Amino acid sequence: MRLKFAISAALLCAAAAFAPAFAADSYPSRPITILVPYAAGGPTDTVARVTAQSMSKILGQTVIIENALGAGGTIATARAARAEPDGYTLLVHHIGISTAPTLYRHLSFDTKTAFAPIGLITNAPMTIIARADFPPNNLKELIAYIQTNGDKMTFGNAGLGAASQLCGMLFMIAVNKQIQTIPYKGNAPVMNDLMAKQIDMTCDQTTNTTGPIGSKLVKGYAITTKKRLASMPDLPTADEAGLPGFEVGAWHGLYAPKGMPDEIVQKLAKTLQEALRDPDLVKRFNDINTDPVSQEEATPQALQAKLISEIDHWAPIINAQGQYAD
Ligand code: ASP
Repeated sequence: MRLKFAISAALLCAAAAFAPAFAADSYPSRPITILVPYAAGGPTDTVARVTAQSMSKILGQTVIIENALGAGGTIATARAARAEPDGYTLLVHHIGISTAPTLYRHLSFDTKTAFAPIGLITNAPMTIIARADFPPNNLKELIAYIQTNGDKMTFGNAGLGAASQLCGMLFMIAVNKQIQTIPYKGNAPVMNDLMAKQIDMTCDQTTNTTGPIGSKLVKGYAITTKKRLASMPDLPTADEAGLPGFEVGAWHGLYAPKGMPDEIVQKLAKTLQEALRDPDLVKRFNDINTDPVSQEEATPQALQAKLISEIDHWAPIINAQGQYAD
């Protein structure tokens, strides 16, 4: 009897030891859902869909994008934090995941510890743009125009916590003028209204603005990176065109809820790294003026380090503005 107990206990222990590896071997055995915090057709959605397509090819499994909109991206983040940590619910989010913990006083989770980060994906440059018929013709003229007309102007963004809101906040600090912001649930609807001349301006990622700037459906004033982009050589950097030191980029990462078996984290990180080497993904990212990150950045360690350092970096800047949400 005692021997029988000892044998079954040993078998149970052995089974437990092999369980995670076994789970990782058979993972994924059903479709994976990636939550995206903003509207379909916008910049974050585009990065997520392109990445999901390559990952799906590699994993041999369907990867579904679900746009979970609202509250500046925090609805999707909260859902991802609460999801079962089984590898079937993931999140693609950008720099906004690092500003929300300061902007939102009552998040239901601790961003620094709620996730099992998988890896960085890309760092998309942003562009300062306006409706096509907006009077100023360059960034210096725009800054001067805002000094006298800023009170009547409108600035579209994807809600408190979006990259467009952060870029807009930095822009308004730099030009020393508040512009009325109009919040949307993503930059896809912001772009629609900008092209329809319903709002005056925004700051949005190249992943959403490359086409409209190129076809002159919106007016491009500056790019927010240190260097001009080879494919938009006429678009000056904000730094050289009138806003010295102005620099912001929307870095994106892939996350899972914390508590996910390490084997699945590693499998997803490897898959992400392979996806970022996929020529189809590289071409599609290049077409929208963004590059996949290096293989070393597409790792759990790199994303966790980035998340922590960015939360700490933005907190004092946001606190100095004193604009919060509950
Ligand atoms: N990422 C955009 C922003 O933060 C929103 C979007 O993807 O639609 O402004």
